[in-house]
Amino acid sequence: MVERPGLRLMAVHAHPDDESSKGAATTARYAAEGVEVLVVTCTGGERGSVLNPSYPDPPSSAEAMAEVRRGEMAAAARALGVRQHWLGFVDSGLPEGDPLPPLPDGCFALVPLEEAAAPLVALVREFRPHVMTTYDPSGGYPHPDHVMCHKVAYEAFGAAGDPDRYRGHGPDGGTPWQPRKLYYNHDFSLRKIRTIHEALLDAGLDSPYGDWVESREAREIPEREVTTRVQVAPWFGARDAALRAHATQIDPEGFFFAVPRDLEARVWPVEEFELAHAHVPVHLPEDDLFAGIHIEDD
Ligand SMILES: [Zn+2]
Repeated sequence: MVERPGLRLMAVHAHPDDESSKGAATTARYAAEGVEVLVVTCTGGERGSVLNPSYPDPPSSAEAMAEVRRGEMAAAARALGVRQHWLGFVDSGLPEGDPLPPLPDGCFALVPLEEAAAPLVALVREFRPHVMTTYDPSGGYPHPDHVMCHKVAYEAFGAAGDPDRYRGHGPDGGTPWQPRKLYYNHDFSLRKIRTIHEALLDAGLDSPYGDWVESREAREIPEREVTTRVQVAPWFGARDAALRAHATQIDPEGFFFAVPRDLEARVWPVEEFELAHAHVPVHLPEDDLFAGIHIEDD
């Protein structure tokens, strides 16, 4: 295994559990290789409901839910071998209905951008990541907190290195730090779901993905570019343990666990990313988020 001390990766996510379903095995791999990995969680996930039908005793209040989710997050971080930091914003919830109801007062998605990005700018200046990951501008999933997570991470990537912006944000007033690369997570591409769906059928197994493939094909959502495919099959176990740690959110009999792991390792042993910005020379496609980064340049 490659050892890469001195490198730092910051993965910015909207809710507790997103770090375990998007880029999770990549963070586990880099942590195992000696990279310092910090997962940043923008909100507490207070408005998430219990999504696991076999969860025994659902929390009765938002405070109780937040407390349970803090415990789940800590267990997931241990499973991935990463550190984790709460940005402290309040979950916006997923609005449902026609017309959609207004977002609740004070929620993350309604915080003005400069105010929402300030604590992340401070954290970037303190942790000094070489690489940041987050979602693409669509959020990757139509949840207002995912879209806001993109905006905040994009803003922090662009501003943390500029001494004239967000002055005084961070320890010692916030010494500017420019992360070298920004990536978007792409773990739910139609190509991936279709490949796994077809491999399941070829193996004579049931696939839970038939309807999903059909509806995604019908909606013709443009596929985003993939620039970077990181080999992560040996870390599927860590990812699965992290997913299971979010017991209120993840059904151990559900969707995430419907694919035999040997089949997944054979047909889709990677996690995919889109390089959004680079301050180092790059050669695409790549197989490493740190390609082109030399810490002696710090
Ligand atoms: Zn989320």
